[in-house]
Order: sequence, then structure tokens, then C-alpha cells
Amino acid sequence: MKTIGLLGGMSWESTLLYYQLLNEGVRERLGGLHSAKILMHSVDFAEIEQFQVNGQWNEAGKKLADAALGLERSGADMILICTNLMHKVAPVIESQINVPLLHIADAAGQTIKAQGLKKVGLLGARYTMEEDFYRQRLLDNFDLDVIIPAPEDREYIHQTIFHELCQGKFTAETRKSYLAIIDKLRVQGAEGVILGCTEIPLLISQEDTTLPLFNTAALHVQFALEHSFA
Ligand code: GLU
Repeated sequence: MKTIGLLGGMSWESTLLYYQLLNEGVRERLGGLHSAKILMHSVDFAEIEQFQVNGQWNEAGKKLADAALGLERSGADMILICTNLMHKVAPVIESQINVPLLHIADAAGQTIKAQGLKKVGLLGARYTMEEDFYRQRLLDNFDLDVIIPAPEDREYIHQTIFHELCQGKFTAETRKSYLAIIDKLRVQGAEGVILGCTEIPLLISQEDTTLPLFNTAALHVQFALEHSFA
């Protein structure tokens, strides 16, 4: 079993999920008292969010790259950025480390492709939905046609991620609105929806809709476990 390095705290609500799912995955494989070998660097998310708002992506990348290097020096065999959005700076981090960075979009893409889906919706922070770093990778590596909600729905999702979900607020009203947006994506031809923000699976789950949902936090964890036991 290899040691998994986590860049966490973005937000800690979803990092908790990573910690739990990694340990459950190791228990399933090895049983008994076995648990995952994890090193974590958990940031103050307010600092990262400030970099995002100011467009200081280089600074954010440098901070996370330094943290990743620290994890590598402490013995991590691989690095996971426990958020979809901060994969925007994945190339900066990758350029600084020698161990593999397991990309969350690859974790989602390989599962979606294996299920034979061609067209999927994407929910996430504004940058994740609108920019190339995530969608283009899914197109280039997995030939997936990724569609996103209308501008007002994207704004709603972005705002609720930062003002509710990342602050531990999960309400029935917001859940209903997300499900309505998912339904619009279905009407536009989506065969499934990527929950491309690691807190969204804390709000909605597969029981809430018949459309296949792809929980990126859980798929990222599975991907890490595959590598950990390879
Ligand atoms: N956790 C969220 C994501 O998966 C957004 C938080 C962030 O990194 O800004 O994209």
C-alpha cells in the first residue's frame, strides 16, 4: 500500500469525505485494523479563495506546489488536489514534484467512458464549468462532449458553492434548485452529470435523480486506491 498525499481544506467539508472514503476503501481491501496511509496538507481556504477572486492563480499554484513538495519530501507516493477547481493550477504543481499528480478529471473521465456515455453535463465552480482546463481534458483524453448550465444557473451554482456548501450549509431549497438545473441538462441531451465540485455530493446524491451522477470526490478516491495498491 502506497502513501497518499492530500492537498486538502478546499473546503474541509469535502476533505473529510476523502479521509473517510480512503480509509473505508482500505478496510474493504485489507480488513481488520488496516487503514489508509495518508499525509495531508490542509490549507486555510479563505486564503485560496482570495487568490481566486483576485485572479492570482500563479500565487495559488505556487502555494499548492510548495505544499505538494512538502508532502512528497515527507513520503507521499502520489498527490491529490482535493478539489476540482484548483486543478486549474495542476500544471504548476506537476512541474515542481516528482511523484504523480492524480488528476480528478481523469478519475471522472475513465469511469464515464467505461460506462459508454458520450455527452455529460458539468456542475462546478464558475471557472471549472467555463474554462478549458477541465472540459478540454475530458474531450481530449476521453472524447466526452461536456455541456454546462445556462449563465444564470452557472452563477447560482458558483455562489451557492462558496456561500453555502463550502460553509457546511446544505438546504432542501438549494437541493431542489440543483435538481432542476440537472433536469435542464437532461433535456439538452446529457446522459449523466459530473458533480465537478467536491462539495456537491454532500448536497445531492444518486437517490435524488434517475440521471447517472458522477461524484468526483469518490471517483478521485477510487483512482488513488487503484494507484496505492498497483
Ligand atoms: N471544492 C470545490 C471544487 O471541487 C471548489 C472549492 C475550490 O477549490 O475553490 O471545485
